[in-house]
Amino acid sequence: MEQTFIMIKPDGVQRGLVGEIISRFEKKGFILKGLRMVGVERSFAEKHYEDLSSKPFFTGLVEYIISGPVVAMVWEGKGVVATGRKIIGATNPAASEPGTIRGDFAVEIGRNVIHGSDAVESAKKEIALWFPDGVVDWQSSLHS
Ligand code: UDP
Ligand code: MG
Repeated sequence: MEQTFIMIKPDGVQRGLVGEIISRFEKKGFILKGLRMVGVERSFAEKHYEDLSSKPFFTGLVEYIISGPVVAMVWEGKGVVATGRKIIGATNPAASEPGTIRGDFAVEIGRNVIHGSDAVESAKKEIALWFPDGVVDWQSSLHS
């Protein structure tokens, strides 16, 4: 079954949005398979965002991610990668639709509350990075 990596960024934690964000994925019908609150090391943040290392915003992005604890999660379900991105909304909150997490809770691109994997392949890579010991193996009794 498809899985995606979702991270509530430090601003999302500090603003008390953890429950709200978990609730949106849960109510949609996706299944929580991994959950960790962690303070991120600089080198780890650089690794997570290595594909963006040449971007002008890279240093600021890394500073943002290490500025406080994050909540790292694995969510599972049919089409969860693409649908997760829809639930999150566009990268720049100025363009995120109302009803999406960024559309409802963010203004600044550099403080956009949440990360979600952009493809099935990057999800696998990110889950392996953040959950090296694997996720929790359980099946919802509501899904067959
Ligand atoms: N970002 C930024 N300035 C930009 C573009 C991106 O600060 O001009 C940050 C923003 O926090 C974004 C993250 O870098 O969420 C990763 O960028 P990406 O293009 O992968 O966006 P995402 O996949 O998070 O929507
Ligand atoms: Mg991205």
